[in-house]
Amino acid sequence: MSKKSQGSWVESANHPETDFPIENLPYGMFSRKTGDTSARIGIAIGNQVLDCTLAAEILGADAVPGFLRQGDLNGFMAQGASVRKAFRAKVTRWLSPGAAEASALRAALVPQSDVQMQLPCAIGDYTDFYASIHHATAVGKLFRPDAPLLPNYKWVPIGYHGRGSSIGVSGQQIVRPTGQIKAAADGAPPEFGACRRLDIELEVGAFIGAGNALGDPIPIAHAEDHLFGLCVLNDWSARDIQAWEYQPLGPFLAKNFASTISPWIVTMEALEPFRVPAERSADDPQPLPYISSPQDRSRGGIDMVLEFSLQTEKMRHDGQPPQRLAKSNLRYAYWTFAQMVTHHSSNGCNLQAGDLFGSGTMSGPAPSEAGSLLELTSGGKVPITLANGESRTFLQDGDVVVLKAYCESSDAVRIGLGECVGQILAARH
Ligand code: CA
Repeated sequence: MSKKSQGSWVESANHPETDFPIENLPYGMFSRKTGDTSARIGIAIGNQVLDCTLAAEILGADAVPGFLRQGDLNGFMAQGASVRKAFRAKVTRWLSPGAAEASALRAALVPQSDVQMQLPCAIGDYTDFYASIHHATAVGKLFRPDAPLLPNYKWVPIGYHGRGSSIGVSGQQIVRPTGQIKAAADGAPPEFGACRRLDIELEVGAFIGAGNALGDPIPIAHAEDHLFGLCVLNDWSARDIQAWEYQPLGPFLAKNFASTISPWIVTMEALEPFRVPAERSADDPQPLPYISSPQDRSRGGIDMVLEFSLQTEKMRHDGQPPQRLAKSNLRYAYWTFAQMVTHHSSNGCNLQAGDLFGSGTMSGPAPSEAGSLLELTSGGKVPITLANGESRTFLQDGDVVVLKAYCESSDAVRIGLGECVGQILAARH
């Protein structure tokens, strides 16, 4: 049982199952489906969106930070945690029961069913990490049975630079990628064709708020100040293209054809009640001092449930909802987001507001906690049988993938990150 919300005059925010009680207040970019369809920044509350531009028109320009009023979330993110916390306190007051602003602000609410969500901000750079040791070990076994976990894993947060241009918001349609695929027979030339091993990766995305100047690393003690908030991330992956290209420089075209994120960014303040110790067992080496701090050890992790569900075209046709295939948790991360921030900037690399970090596929230790089809099907060798009798190893055209995330605990109000949905379309030849 979760704690009861402090409540809001927005009735839908008081439903025990809502992702968006007053304790959450995530940011997103939306446009109305009818009327004025300009893109605006909104805050989710229950099944409504608080329109930041309209709120400023109603309560006066000074009530809302300029960047939010003007639809520039990157500008707001860059201002850092103190500006964000101050505005959160103000919005919490506005939306609380009995608030003086309540009757006026009703006019600034838009039903979520009447809006089209967009990417929340301009994503400059996208870096994908590899923070689940369970995923790294499971995938390592498939690609390199003799050396599943490479010797650097427990020392250095492994990542690669992905691509921002192909990141889309929930609802994205993914054209099956085409690429070079290794021939079945050793020594034969590769073929060029549609991916046959198209997969998902169940990840959490972290947005950078305040950046750092080039040449000016972010110390671990200050790393959390540079995090804005989290979303759900599906790092779509073409396993056959990946297997042929990943050595020696890592993933390239197997990963950059699309990544999908949920539309709402849940701030670090909303996640505060769900912080847990970083996952590291007593016999693991301690991280090097530059990525180690008592605070990060004691609360660097986040207890966040992650789910992966699939709906085939037949299920959709038969009116069946998506079927859950895996359930995992962000607390399995071996590296914390703070460690990722500090490590990424440790060579002087500059992070900027709106940069996105992927956690890496967040698999847990149990088979049912695997965050990819690659793991769930033992590399495509053991198909999953769905409830309606269909089976899957990898994704087929028409499949809809739904990732979702939420945080719940007995002494906090449940909050959710919403859904990250994507559909596979046939390859274009
Ligand atoms: Ca990934």
